[in-house]
Amino acid sequence: MARIAEVIVDIPTMQTNKPFDYLIPSEYEEQIVPGMRVVVPFGNGSRSVQGFVVGLASSTEYDGRMKEILEVMDLDPVLNEELIQLGADMAKKTFSFQISCYQTMLPSVLRAKYDKVIRVIDELPGDLWETLFASRDEITWQEATERGILTQLMKLKQQELVEVVYLVKDKITVKTERHLKPLLSFDQLEEEKAGLTKRATKQLLLLNVLQSLAERQVPTKVVREEYGISTAVIKEGEKKGWLTQFDVEVYRDPFENHTFEQTQALQLTPSQEHAYHQIMAAVEGGTSDVFLLKGVTGSGKTEVYLQTIAEVLKKDQSALMLVPEIALTPQMVQRFKSRFGEEVAVLHSGLSDGERYDEWRKIEKGEARVVVGARSSVFAPVKNLGLIIIDEEHETSYKQEENPRYHARNVAIWRAEYHQCPVVLGSATPSLESRARATKNVYHLLELNERANNQELPEVSIVNMREEASKGNRSTFSLSLQEAIRDRLAKREQSVLMLNRRGYSSFVMCRDCGFVLPCPNCDISLTLHMDTKTMKCHYCGHEEGIPSLCPQCGSRSIRYYGTGTQKVEEELKQLIPEARVIRMDVDTTRRKGAHEKLLNRFGNKEADILLGTQMIAKGLDFPDVTLVGVLNADTSLGLPDFRSSERTFQLLTQVSGRAGRGDKPGEVIVQTFNPEHYAIQLAQMQDYNTFYLKEMSLRHKGQYPPYFFIIRITVSHEQEMAAAKKIGEIANFLRPSLGPQAVMLGPTPKAIARTHNRYHYQILIKYKREPYLEEKLHELLQNSQKDVAKGMVIAIDSEPTSFI
Ligand code: ADP
Ligand code: ZN
Ligand code: ZN
Repeated sequence: MARIAEVIVDIPTMQTNKPFDYLIPSEYEEQIVPGMRVVVPFGNGSRSVQGFVVGLASSTEYDGRMKEILEVMDLDPVLNEELIQLGADMAKKTFSFQISCYQTMLPSVLRAKYDKVIRVIDELPGDLWETLFASRDEITWQEATERGILTQLMKLKQQELVEVVYLVKDKITVKTERHLKPLLSFDQLEEEKAGLTKRATKQLLLLNVLQSLAERQVPTKVVREEYGISTAVIKEGEKKGWLTQFDVEVYRDPFENHTFEQTQALQLTPSQEHAYHQIMAAVEGGTSDVFLLKGVTGSGKTEVYLQTIAEVLKKDQSALMLVPEIALTPQMVQRFKSRFGEEVAVLHSGLSDGERYDEWRKIEKGEARVVVGARSSVFAPVKNLGLIIIDEEHETSYKQEENPRYHARNVAIWRAEYHQCPVVLGSATPSLESRARATKNVYHLLELNERANNQELPEVSIVNMREEASKGNRSTFSLSLQEAIRDRLAKREQSVLMLNRRGYSSFVMCRDCGFVLPCPNCDISLTLHMDTKTMKCHYCGHEEGIPSLCPQCGSRSIRYYGTGTQKVEEELKQLIPEARVIRMDVDTTRRKGAHEKLLNRFGNKEADILLGTQMIAKGLDFPDVTLVGVLNADTSLGLPDFRSSERTFQLLTQVSGRAGRGDKPGEVIVQTFNPEHYAIQLAQMQDYNTFYLKEMSLRHKGQYPPYFFIIRITVSHEQEMAAAKKIGEIANFLRPSLGPQAVMLGPTPKAIARTHNRYHYQILIKYKREPYLEEKLHELLQNSQKDVAKGMVIAIDSEPTSFI
């Protein structure tokens, strides 16, 4: 008899990073299965927390008095067997807590909300019960704060007259819609008509509508809006027993107002056909092979995805397709919805919590068998997986930069092994890691070397901006780019211009003394946000007004620097006033649906130029775009990161791929101050293979991935000394266990040594094979619990993707 539930509680600490045993009360005995959320008491006080049941048992090794589960929050489990296992494995691999893994996997509404209340437990002196509690048993913490009585209450707590209780609240909301249904037959309704007075025309109308429904139900809204029958009249009808009203559960549909035209599979080209057959063989054979589908931009990778998924559906299996958030454009969604209709669920950051939960439920119930989504959809509760696809597999956004620091590719491969299904990694510019694995036959390489429509790849030319300056042209636009844009305007073709940086990263500097406004909490300068007319810190969110005088020397010559998209737009309008420009950056796309509207306008040719940041480099497919301009190829080259050349090469290749996708040839102009750099030259020649070989030899020399693995250990604390001391201890602890091939870099302060008023120190370990390292790092976390309790944060990042 299983009477004990093993529960992972919602307290992210090392001590609680294991299942705790709880008694199952008899009323829940039949109901509880692993994967459900429960509320359990925790600790000595009256604290209750949310937890996930991860297993059932009939005996326990715990020799204390076991507590009982207080409440069961679900009727059906929210985690299935697979995800329970995945969370446990992932916690180990990413050095994070199991609870954090489960919470990352699930839609945020399934995460409990905690309410604190102050509850009376003994008789209060005088009239305190009346004045403080208004004669109630408890008041919320929030109310106490708002009324300014918290101090008084805390005194009562010391006297043990009141207690603080934590309540667990569910955030789930299911959207419902009011429906109505006739209760009477056609003839009975006819009789009711006879009893009406002449003036009761609205009631007569209602009876007619009810008759036309022929006992079917409709949304009440329809009756109100289409026939102009008021709520009062409907209520009256309900009272007279003509109809009944009730709530029906509905999904929030983010694509409510869209129609998708059905599309058919295209005749595959020979190389698409080859890739298709290889992948299908693995689908049919049920093997967890990983394919690297390397195809130039426009080579028809997406068509291969669509057709393999179609076959997977025919086999009654489901498919998971990941795309980077910024490539999850309306165009991409459209291609999937048009092929698979209602079978598609889409998960991305633009959804409200409610919409996301509803998409998740559709997947969970098996109503949507094709999931398209960004990084975290790799955890979608898809059953019977037949295929997993990761498009643009080289994108760094597949790695989560906070705990749990997982890479979607690794999770995908884990799930593929669980389901015995293949994984396809697609890209025009595969990450060096994946390409190297294909060379070693760990992955199977599939190549599409030509564009599907037989169009040539666009011609890429490079403009040396140093020469431009010596010619006296100080504008952002080189003369040849200006000419090319004018030429497209004359031909009524379109251009895409990319500024290689975020739209608003400009700062304020004093021309007299050079003062730059810093963040008071972090070691970086504040950036100017034109939309809110404020200075903001990108790390901690600190915000202040734009100064008109220099805070250091009092000079009035305080000026804006840096090239934001807004400034470039203004410059463009001055140079070519007749051009119609759409600007796309974080500022213009913040509103829900804005992204899609702008792209639709561009697609309808309401503008000649699309000017934007990196967000326009991916996924766009507009046939009339024949010119792509990269305004500043260099910014990404200067980053202190061994992957900066790879990133630059990838970005330039991606954005070039936006040109010439229709039947007119495309042209790309890349402006740079470093025309000799190999990443820029090889991007110009669109020569991935040479870039790969060159970059691999540099990585080999520098002992970087993919030749070496990297692990980063970061320590942060409010006091610089404390952080520095701890990182030193960690270095000393780890050093003796490392083999001779391993390299320890540091300890050093991080590139931005202070953020949020905390100091950060780090160690990087580069290694080839260190069988004991993982164990040693877990030991480190175990041993550091005391420091963590005192405010130390220790993070371990395996294969970090960002080094800033
Ligand atoms: P990728 O994903 O590799 O960038 P896409 O799948 O977007 O390429 O294909 C580029 C263009 O070629 C699209 O407009 C697509 O409809 C078209 N296309 C793809 N495959 C074929 C095919 N077999 N026959 C004709 N057109 C195709
Ligand atoms: Zn800050
Ligand atoms: Zn100054």
